[in-house]
Amino acid sequence: MSKRPTYEIDGETTRFDERDTVFAREALVPGSPEEMDYHERHPEKREVDERLARFILSKMEEGAKGEHLARAIYESHFLTSAALALPDQVDGEPAESRIEWDPKEAVNRIKEFARALGADDVRIGPLRPEWVYSHKGSRPFFGEGYTNPPYFKGIPEGYQGARYGDPIELGHRHAVSMAFGQEKDLIATGATRAVDFEVGRVYLKSVVASVQLARFIRALGYPARAHHLRNYLVMLVPIAVDAGIGELARSGYVVSRTLGADFRLSCVTTDLPLEYDEPVDIGMQDFCSKCSKCATNCPARAIPMGEKTVTRGVRKWKLDEEACLLYWGRSGYTCGICQTVCPWTKPNNLFHRFVAAIAVHLPFMRRFLVFGDDAVYGAGFRPKSLPDWLRE
Ligand code: SF4
Ligand code: SF4
Repeated sequence: MSKRPTYEIDGETTRFDERDTVFAREALVPGSPEEMDYHERHPEKREVDERLARFILSKMEEGAKGEHLARAIYESHFLTSAALALPDQVDGEPAESRIEWDPKEAVNRIKEFARALGADDVRIGPLRPEWVYSHKGSRPFFGEGYTNPPYFKGIPEGYQGARYGDPIELGHRHAVSMAFGQEKDLIATGATRAVDFEVGRVYLKSVVASVQLARFIRALGYPARAHHLRNYLVMLVPIAVDAGIGELARSGYVVSRTLGADFRLSCVTTDLPLEYDEPVDIGMQDFCSKCSKCATNCPARAIPMGEKTVTRGVRKWKLDEEACLLYWGRSGYTCGICQTVCPWTKPNNLFHRFVAAIAVHLPFMRRFLVFGDDAVYGAGFRPKSLPDWLRE
């Protein structure tokens, strides 16, 4: 086990502007002041962003095209998540009186609370300032309350002062990172309505848990803010790695010893005094260098086959997010192929815990385990069929 996260710092780490994320860019409404501002500063992104925006707009049009079920699933999960993104849901004033717990007791109680809310893993780590976005870029909080698609008509109460591009300051010292496992048989259908359903369902669970946990901590008398799918100020992946949920893998996902690559994240940042968990070293950097199953099976060729490169001061395998999201656009659905084919994504039973222990503790066996996974489960992605209840 390691006291340092296993990603490699190479140079100066710089904060990321949320406006540069693919999810902020695909949400830009063509012709809006935000879209024009962004593409004046980044003309090289205009063409690809128009293609990205078409994916999310197509979700709004699915009902009209006869994909009524897909549209209903999307609304059910993602618009409910959006309603929990309002400022008084994710943040607020702490109670005036404080409960006094020592940091160890606080950790135990916070973890049990989060598990009771449905988190499959909960870890606590520092909030490093470089993982806080530098500027606000994502929905639903900019001019005219406008987003693509329009989650709200007009500017929601409490957001009148919030603007696209607002600088972000977040002084919290600690982060509670939560992981929520997905139903493997649904994600293993490839890029389908079933993946849309399952990703949306688990995200919503992560959204509710983060909002509840932040409210709980504030009611204990300490500042706390939820960060979830529809309202982040921070980057959840490196925060989860720092807290020990898992390691950053070739696919760009965090891979966990127990959950594999098949989970979603949310987190709560706070100043409640808490003891930290340690980052983990389960051998992923070496394992991924011997395995490229996610890359060879990615239909968008978005996962690098080769060596790590340096991005904003971190040496890692760099996912091509644009290629990934454009594939979602072409297929019309969220894709879960890389999560499914990862050899670490397996049922959490005795046999697979034993295999995972070999992978962690016997580095010389890792190449053999990669071959073994191909032999037993196939080197290529084998999609499961859509359950009847999710057929149109
Ligand atoms: S989600 Fe699909 S398209 Fe995106 S990186 Fe993974 S396998 Fe490739
Ligand atoms: S599929 Fe292989 S290379 Fe990709 S993340 Fe999983 S272990 Fe690493």
